[in-house]
Parts: sequence; structure tokens; C-alpha cells
Amino acid sequence: MTASPSVSASEVARRLEALRARIDAVGGDDVVRIVAVTKGFDESAPRAALACGLTMFGENYAQELVAKDEALMPTERDRVEWHFIGRLQRNKVRLLAGTVDVWQSVDRVELLDEIARRAPGAAVMVQVDLSDDPRRGGTSPDRVGGLVAHGRSLGLDVRGLMAVGPVGPPEAARPGFRRVVALADEYRLTERSIGMSGDLEVAVAEGATMVRIGTALFGHR
Ligand SMILES: *Cc1c(COP(=O)(O)O)cnc(C)c1O
Repeated sequence: MTASPSVSASEVARRLEALRARIDAVGGDDVVRIVAVTKGFDESAPRAALACGLTMFGENYAQELVAKDEALMPTERDRVEWHFIGRLQRNKVRLLAGTVDVWQSVDRVELLDEIARRAPGAAVMVQVDLSDDPRRGGTSPDRVGGLVAHGRSLGLDVRGLMAVGPVGPPEAARPGFRRVVALADEYRLTERSIGMSGDLEVAVAEGATMVRIGTALFGHR
């Protein structure tokens, strides 16, 4: 395995300031929390972000998340809230169950069942597919209600909805993000995890409560 690149703590601090200014500029300063997406970088990424006061971290790959968590010092690990945001395979739930705090990319019944079995009462979010690209994951908007109800019936803490905007100009994400927020309202879900480095302004304007930011904090992967 090739070593993942490191990040510089001062560079992350500088980028975070710019990121906060972007969020503030569209009125998100009081409501939007940042999930720092550390994929592709070594443990210096969560370490630098922790030093800046960020505590929510997102990863796409099971092994990478667990390895990064193990590379942190216990005092760091205690402060970290890990969010799983990638395509989730059922057989990876067991590996992740002791480490993941919020399962954001849940898009089918079998995942809800497995998470409820391995991590009873866990916090989950339902990922909504806005792109028609199956590699990006997510369920169709018309299946969201059924998944939310199923998760609740299993005793899971269904917190909200997550979605990835389409490839293209940020403005192209607006109708989909609006749909996600309307669905979250319909099912009385508080969290809307929409928006990444490229389209966060649109997401915040449409009602994001969480943005998932990699490149704008850590640079290009
Ligand atoms: C990689 C990734 C992000 C972060 O993307 P950036 O454009 O680097 O901010 C957010 N969400 C998901 C699901 C991702 O895979």
C-alpha cells in the first residue's frame, strides 16, 4: 500500500478560515456544521483538523477509516466523531460498528438491518440518489419514507438525509438539494447533509445543516 500524503496543520487552519468565510457569506454561520472529509490523507488530516477545533470526520472506505482511527492517539480518538459517507457494503458493517458514530450513506433495508444488529440504536442517515449514477449510491426519493420508517422501527436514531450533488456547475445541484430538504421536512428529520467543496453555497442556501468538505480543507487528493 502506498503511503497517504500528509497535510500541514497551518495550511488546514488557513483553509478553514476561508471555508468559514464562504459559509458565513451565505448565512450558514449558526446552523451549518463541517464534516471534514479526510479520505486520501493520512492521520495528519484529522489531527490538523482537531487542532482547529473540528471534531466530525468523514471517510468513504471501511479499512481506511479504521486504520486512521487506530493511528490517532487515544486522547485524539476520544474527541472524534466518525461519519461513514461512502458506498457501504453489508459485510463491512461489522468491521466499522465499534468505530463509526454516524452512518450517513445508508440506502437500503439490508444495511439498516445489519447496522441495527451490529450497532443497536446507532445514528443513521438515509442517502438520497440525485445523480442517476449508481456508483454514487443512494436510494430513489420515493423510497426514502419507507427506509426512514424501517430504521425507526428497528430502534435506530434516524437523524436525517444525505445527498451528493450531480457532477457539473454548483447551480445544477439546487433542485436536488431542495428536494432533499423537502423530504427531510416531510419525515421530520433534522439533519440535511448536502454540499461539498464545490457546491456548499448552494447547499447552505437551500438548508444544509452539515457540509462534507475534503478538498477545500486538505487540498487535492
Ligand atoms: C469525497 C467526498 C466528499 C468531499 O468532497 P470534496 O469535493 O473534496 O469536498 C463529500 N462527500 C462524499 C460522499 C464524498 O465522497
